[in-house]
Amino acid sequence: MEVRRVILEPVVSSVQTPPAKFLVRPTLDTKFQIDYDWWERANRDLEVYMHSHLCPEHKEAFADVRADALVDNVDPKTAEVTKVPGIQNVLITHCAQQPDYITRQTSLVNAVFRIFLANGNTPLTARDLGERLGREPKKILRTFSSPRVYKGIRPCTED
Ligand SMILES: [Zn+2]
Repeated sequence: MEVRRVILEPVVSSVQTPPAKFLVRPTLDTKFQIDYDWWERANRDLEVYMHSHLCPEHKEAFADVRADALVDNVDPKTAEVTKVPGIQNVLITHCAQQPDYITRQTSLVNAVFRIFLANGNTPLTARDLGERLGREPKKILRTFSSPRVYKGIRPCTED
């Protein structure tokens, strides 16, 4: 009889495997955020894309600037410091504060994307997002749980 050799995987492997919860269907309490790796994998330039979310004044100001130097962003509430690209810093400190940053006319995907740009990509649940946008959390959940990934917004992989 042939002896089948079983190679046991080490319990702790240095090889990165997707976390199990990635396979779990997201719920209203699953946190989402922008997956910057997705942008890299998709070979899309987030900086260029971010430019389209600036206010008219800064769109012009950053027109010829390659504004990707990282600067500190200090959360006014938690004093937490995160490194963000220069263009994102302007977006957070100015453009996102403008009354027309997110309006009822902003598409759901863009509105959610703009929230994450403005909050330094702090993970939020569909419930949180629905509350902030005054839109239906279930619709938000459905949109961002679909196999198609919109603007890199997916369930986040860290706790
Ligand atoms: Zn601005």
